[in-house]
Amino acid sequence: MERRALVVGLGIAGMAAAIGLRQAGWQPVIVERAPVRRRGGYFIGLMPEGRRAAADLGIAAHLHTRNPPDGGKAYSLTRRGTREPGLGFLHQPGAPAAVVRGDIEAALWEGVQGDGTDKPIPVRFATKPVEIDDTGARARVLLEETGAATWHRESFDLVVGADGMRSGVRRMVFGPHEDHMTEWNAMICVFQLEEQVPSFAAADSVISARAGRGAWVFGFADRPPTALLTYRTDDVEGQFTGSRIERLRTAFSDMDDPVVRHALNALEQAPDFLFDSVHQVKMPRWSRGRVVLVGDAAWCLNLYSGMGATFALRGGAELGRALRESPGDLGAALAAWESRLRPSITRHQRLARLKRQLFVPSNRPAEAVRSVVVRLACAARERRLARARAAAKEGP
Ligand SMILES: Cc1cc2nc3c(=O)[nH]c(=O)nc-3n(C[C@H](O)[C@H](O)[C@H](O)COP(=O)(O)OP(=O)(O)OC[C@H]3O[C@@H](n4cnc5c(N)ncnc54)[C@H](O)[C@@H]3O)c2cc1C
Repeated sequence: MERRALVVGLGIAGMAAAIGLRQAGWQPVIVERAPVRRRGGYFIGLMPEGRRAAADLGIAAHLHTRNPPDGGKAYSLTRRGTREPGLGFLHQPGAPAAVVRGDIEAALWEGVQGDGTDKPIPVRFATKPVEIDDTGARARVLLEETGAATWHRESFDLVVGADGMRSGVRRMVFGPHEDHMTEWNAMICVFQLEEQVPSFAAADSVISARAGRGAWVFGFADRPPTALLTYRTDDVEGQFTGSRIERLRTAFSDMDDPVVRHALNALEQAPDFLFDSVHQVKMPRWSRGRVVLVGDAAWCLNLYSGMGATFALRGGAELGRALRESPGDLGAALAAWESRLRPSITRHQRLARLKRQLFVPSNRPAEAVRSVVVRLACAARERRLARARAAAKEGP
């Protein structure tokens, strides 16, 4: 008998989990509360573990990557607004693949459609669960079709909550957001730029990081850059009142450098942008009975970690693998899945605290240390590249 799974959320984690479930012989159905599939999105550096997971899910060939040659050029702006060599996201070890979130989702969408051998996975838009009743034998879910304002109940063998950092599935089954979302006292705003910062090349990355504020422009090989503005605040709730753009202008008011100026002006014209507070999700267990959480719903690592998309893919691929290995024992499969992933997630949740200093230093001393670290890392990278160029000239 085929086992049915409800996957809640058509993001990276949801589509990866649905494909993993299908590989394990399950029959997944995806529900997404939005009326249509979203596209575009912000810069993402996909790490090797994420690319391996994409290969395991059979979607690697569909993944369009946008790395400039050699990781592209990156510049830091000094307090005086002058440029010096900088350390871009793509320069870190592991050679991340440069994509926008929509590139990963487009590749996964191809996988969801199936290739003729695999059946397409049904996707129901404008639909969300409003009640989940785990009877032990099945999970009975009340689904709301939001456009039509109709409700019906359906039974599943497994419910996968892949509905992001403010997961409704988590709230219904594991408790309120406050129990699981940790406060980072920081905000982000991300959006696409129509044009690069004046006087920089199209694929350049440009970074301006001061105590409590950071402005990043991420360059790509074949499309305009995306921008990230991030700042620290003790009044997270207050940031959601009034005009978002005014909030950002106030936070960056004493940073009148070319990146901040360009980004704030571009933001005024941007058709859409993501403005949100920063959190991590921490849970003692990611599953209960017939309900499991994946991706940001379960462990949101947050943007400073730079590993969320990588682990959203890996979480889905590993879920499929665990279910294949324990076909008759759901509890054992979920326990094995969690014990394989948790050590890496815990490590990256801790590392994100440190990496945050690179995005947005906590104070002036941290800003000064950051500058020194970046200069040393840039010099080391230059030496490495020079050696590689010399070796290539000499030939085999
Ligand atoms: C600015 C920024 C930069 C980042 N950079 C990187 C990076 O460089 N590298 C990296 O690996 N990661 C990065 N990340 C993290 C990465 O983008 C996320 O971890 C990843 O996209 C999370 O995917 P997800 O599917 O778990 O959640 P989401 O992307 O939040 O998807 C959740 C989906 O569920 C739907 N949904 C929500 N509620 C319901 C409901 N009740 N019913 C039905 N559907 C629902 C939503 O509409 C959405 O489609 C970054 C994140 C940000 C914000």
